[in-house]
Amino acid sequence: MVEKIDISVVIPIYNEEENLPILYKKLKSVLERLYNSGKRYEIIFVNDGSRDRSWEIISEIGWKDKDIVGVNFRRNFGQTAAMSAGFEVARGDVIITMDGDLQNDPEDIPRLLEKIEEGYDIVSGWRKDRKDAFISRTLPSRIANWLISKVTGVYLHDYGCSLKAYKSDIAKNLDFYGEMHRFLPALSKPLGAKIIEIPVKHHPRIYGKSKYGISRTFKVILDLILVKFLLDYRTKPLRVFGGAGFLLSLLGFFVMLYLSCQKICFNKPIGDRPLLTFGMLLFITGIQLISTGIIAELITRTYYESQGKRPYIIKEILNAKDR
Ligand code: UDP
Ligand code: MG
Repeated sequence: MVEKIDISVVIPIYNEEENLPILYKKLKSVLERLYNSGKRYEIIFVNDGSRDRSWEIISEIGWKDKDIVGVNFRRNFGQTAAMSAGFEVARGDVIITMDGDLQNDPEDIPRLLEKIEEGYDIVSGWRKDRKDAFISRTLPSRIANWLISKVTGVYLHDYGCSLKAYKSDIAKNLDFYGEMHRFLPALSKPLGAKIIEIPVKHHPRIYGKSKYGISRTFKVILDLILVKFLLDYRTKPLRVFGGAGFLLSLLGFFVMLYLSCQKICFNKPIGDRPLLTFGMLLFITGIQLISTGIIAELITRTYYESQGKRPYIIKEILNAKDR
C-alpha cells in the first residue's frame, strides 16, 4: 500500500543544472514551513533527457533527502510527457506543478494551497507582471489565452503559467499528449473541476535558455482544435461528422431529385450539366462523412471499454458500503 501524503510538487527538468540547487533550496524552505504545520510533501523532479549535469544534481540531492523523488527519462520527451510522468508517480492529495528555471516562485505555493482548501479543484497561476520579451512571448501569449478561453469556454488570463495546483483525483484522470499541458484546466472541464486563477510572481530567466521559440504558437493553435474536439465531441463524434454528412447528402439528394425530374418529366438532357457532378459529389461526401462518424463512434467505444474508463467521474457515493 502506497503511503499517502499531502503535497506533491512536480517539476519537469531539461538542462537546468544552474537552477536546480537554488530551486531546491527555495522550495525546501517553503515546504518545511508547511511541514511544520502538519503537511507531508514530496518533490518530484522529472529529468526530461537533459544533456547537462541535471540528473547528477537531482541524484545527489535525492541521496541526502528522502522527500525527493527523481524520474529519469531515457531521452527528451517534452515538458508535457514529463508532467504526465510526474502525475503518475505522485502520491499527494494535491499536485503542484512548476517550472525548473526559477521563473515561478515557490513562495506562492501556500497561497495556491489555501485556495485548494477553500474547495477549488484547480488553482491556476496568473503571471500578472510577466518578465518575458513582449513581442516574442507576452503578446502572442495574450492572443493565445484569449483564443483558448473563447474556444474552450474556460476563461483564464494565463494558460501558459506552469505554476498550478490540482486536486490529485482530477490530475490523475487527465489524459494529455503532445504539447497539451497548458490546456489542462480546459481538459478538466468535462470532469467538473472548479477552477480559479490567482496572480503569482514571475521572474526573468537568469540561468540557462528557454526551450521554446515563436513556433510554439502554431503548435498551440493546432492542439486547440484537438482540445475543442475532445471537449465537446469525444463521447459523441457521430454528431460532428454525422451532422455535416447528413446535411451534405440531403442537399445532394435534392439536387439529384431536381435533375431526375428534369429528365423524366420534361425529357431534358442532363448529362452535360455541372450540377450533376456537384450533386453526386455532395451525396458521396455526405455518405463518407457519416461513415467516418460511425467509425469514430466505434473507436470511442474501444477507447473507453478497453481501458476500463468511464465517461463520467463520481465525486462521492452516499451509503456506498461494498460498492
Ligand atoms: N522542459 C522540459 N522538457 C522540454 C522543454 C522544457 O522538461 O522539452 C522544462 C524546462 O526545464 C522548464 C519547463 O519545462 O522547467 C519550462 O520550460 P521553459 O522555461 O524553457 O519555458 P518558458 O518559460 O520559456 O515558456
Ligand atoms: Mg521558463
